[in-house]
Amino acid sequence: MVDIRPDEISSIIFKQIAQYDQEVKVLNTGTVLRVGDGIARIHGLDGAMAGELVEFEDGTVGIALNLESDNVGAVLMGDGLAIREGSSVQATGKIAQIPVSDAYLGRVVNALAQPIDGKGQITASEFRLIESPAPGIISRRSVYEPMQTGLIAIDSMIPIGRGQRELIIGDRQTGKTAVATDTILNQGGQNVICVYVAIGQKASSVARVVDTFEGRGAMGYTIVVAENANSPATLQYLAPYTGAALAEYFMYRKRHTLVIYDDLTKQAQAYRQMSLLLGRPPGREAYPGDVFYLHSRLLERAAKLSSQLGEGSMTALPVVETQAGDVSAYIPTNVISITDGQIFLSADLFNAGIRPAINVGISVSRVGSAAQTKAMKRVAGKLKLELAQFAELEAFAQFASDLDKATRDQLARGQRLRELLKQSQAAPLSVEEQVATIYTGVGGYLDVIEVGQVQGFLAQLRDYLITNKPEFAEIIRSTKTFTERAETLLKEAIKEHTELFLLQRRV
Ligand code: ATP
Ligand code: MG
Repeated sequence: MVDIRPDEISSIIFKQIAQYDQEVKVLNTGTVLRVGDGIARIHGLDGAMAGELVEFEDGTVGIALNLESDNVGAVLMGDGLAIREGSSVQATGKIAQIPVSDAYLGRVVNALAQPIDGKGQITASEFRLIESPAPGIISRRSVYEPMQTGLIAIDSMIPIGRGQRELIIGDRQTGKTAVATDTILNQGGQNVICVYVAIGQKASSVARVVDTFEGRGAMGYTIVVAENANSPATLQYLAPYTGAALAEYFMYRKRHTLVIYDDLTKQAQAYRQMSLLLGRPPGREAYPGDVFYLHSRLLERAAKLSSQLGEGSMTALPVVETQAGDVSAYIPTNVISITDGQIFLSADLFNAGIRPAINVGISVSRVGSAAQTKAMKRVAGKLKLELAQFAELEAFAQFASDLDKATRDQLARGQRLRELLKQSQAAPLSVEEQVATIYTGVGGYLDVIEVGQVQGFLAQLRDYLITNKPEFAEIIRSTKTFTERAETLLKEAIKEHTELFLLQRRV
């Protein structure tokens, strides 16, 4: 019979426990097999999680993205020039996260939420995962408050609601960034926190945007996240998620937020580069198979939260660049199907001097009209109809030699309405100014003004209204309705100002 001695058994168990600990430690460090092009292949990180941060000997941080049977593929968040074959790698046990706090307002940061504006450290009280799950159905309510862009063409005909996702799409140099930044400028005094994410842009372009924000006092409520064209692909890929995480911090604190991703084409290209280097199979346009998920999981994080969660919101305005107006390319079709509508900017209109170059005919907003104020609804319906008729008539009139008076009148009206929609950059208009402008146009009060003078006339009329009929703006602002009293005031102002304007021209 074998003699069982309890102290022997316990000593074996103790030994095993001690070794068990050691084994865990070994699992969490690995060695670099291969490094280059911002990618490292690591052997030995058997316990790594997907998306876990790993740290190299030289301090470079990477993200473990490909967990394969015999190695782990990680992308580097830095140049990693000091990493060598055989260097050791530590798994950190953490998924990528960033510090968040109110102190981020007014700052320019990179994709890791580190300041890059030379204004010192940012104090933060808590952390958020860069990739957080989007709020579920129960956590949301439908969109019902307007997010004013300050651009007449958008607020009247393609209205955006708080919590909506609206794509800004167009060829290069068609004013996409201008629409986005004007919207941020228009949030002054609206109690909205803005996050502008610049991805793969020239450093000088981003500097110009930050300058504009600073000059117009918009930095007070804005955070800029920038990863420029020369940043590692990993950081360009991460930047939008970082922007979303910063906005979420405020959204879950009952605040309204607006996030702009400028632009997602560049982010998708950065992701394609990473994926190809990691050896993932290329699909359509050489993008990896999961590029739809890349954008859907980002844009799903935009939400209007339920009353239980405090009614905060995140409105997302992603920007996508097209080639020669082709919206059927891979990334444009993907993002169009994820968002609640798109603002289409056309190079032809831009070159014809119609700026913002919004093609109203093919732009849509699928949820925003629920959020439009009553005052705006009343004037906007007619504007859309008249412009649509004008577009049809104009195409037809090019072939006709002599037109009857009714047609000529309608063409004249349309030309003036198109003029009315033009707005220079960084000059957003308030709701009351927009209502007054549109009412003047669709009411036919511009028909006596020459087309070339419509812009000047309207600008002066808005000034006239502010100085001489301040009650008008007050009514629209407080009741959000275009009341009879407001209409009377506006009619008076138009009449008085038109007389003055025409008199001035005659002298
Ligand atoms: P990119 O493809 O390079 O990102 P983009 O589509 O973002 O370009 P912007 O940079 O916004 O376009 O604008 C292109 C040019 O048009 C800029 O010089 C800008 O100042 C000008 N611009 C934009 N909007 C207007 C406007 N409403 N009125 C006059 N000029 C404008
Ligand atoms: Mg741009």
